[in-house]
Amino acid sequence: AVSKFREFDYFNLALQWPGTVCGRSRHCCSSNACCRGSNAPAEFTIHGLWPDYNDGTWPACCTRSEFEEKEIATLLDPLEKYWPSLSCGSPSTCHGGKGSFWAHEWEKHGTCSSPVVRDEYSYFLTTLNVYFKYNVTRVLSEAGYVPSNSEKYPLGGIISAIQNAFHATPKLVCSKGALEELHLCFYKDFKPRDCLAGSSIQNGKYSSKSSCPKY
Ligand code: 5GP
Ligand code: 5GP
Repeated sequence: AVSKFREFDYFNLALQWPGTVCGRSRHCCSSNACCRGSNAPAEFTIHGLWPDYNDGTWPACCTRSEFEEKEIATLLDPLEKYWPSLSCGSPSTCHGGKGSFWAHEWEKHGTCSSPVVRDEYSYFLTTLNVYFKYNVTRVLSEAGYVPSNSEKYPLGGIISAIQNAFHATPKLVCSKGALEELHLCFYKDFKPRDCLAGSSIQNGKYSSKSSCPKY
């Protein structure tokens, strides 16, 4: 499909920490993976694979390709486990409707991944494969960063652990004093690269010396 946007420069694999995302919604809603069992998933899960530009901006809603769940029927088991929706409510799609978290991510970001990723099935399969190859939960736990409600970890330590494992600098996003997201960045051939310089910690309240509790 033809897009009015120029080709993206690199990928950002946005991962979310369920303990932080789930803690935000006061109510349990039926479609929400936080409600399964008594606990939120205990590993980073996928938010999305986002094509980005080197100037800090990004394209969105690039083609009119609408999400079709049947195209990813063979991927539903891993997607439900590793790419669950942790928020209540249906996000908007690019075409004015409401859809699932997966529909939102495919239409907003996935449609901008061409020519590296050209269709919906490839978008979800590629994202799962990159997620499995770069296991952030394992790297952090091997470096001694295990989720805790009392311990506060220095952000610089978390960043170093990822740098040592993947030889690239991630971006962290905190919310209310807790780590909410960790972004890994990749060249178009999926070799790791630094996320944008100067913004490895998003949100002015946090400096590299401060800490993100509850991870
Ligand atoms: P927030 O304002 O919560 O950081 O981001 C809201 C939405 O903007 C995200 O869900 C995502 O769709 C988009 N977004 C935020 N940061 C980035 C980024 O660095 N790259 C891309 N491609 N999208 C982003
Ligand atoms: P983005 O930040 O990718 O543009 O938007 C994410 C959208 O998906 C928001 O409208 C949000 O409410 C919805 N959503 C559904 N499930 C999740 C989830 O597990 N995490 C996040 N960050 N957003 C979710």
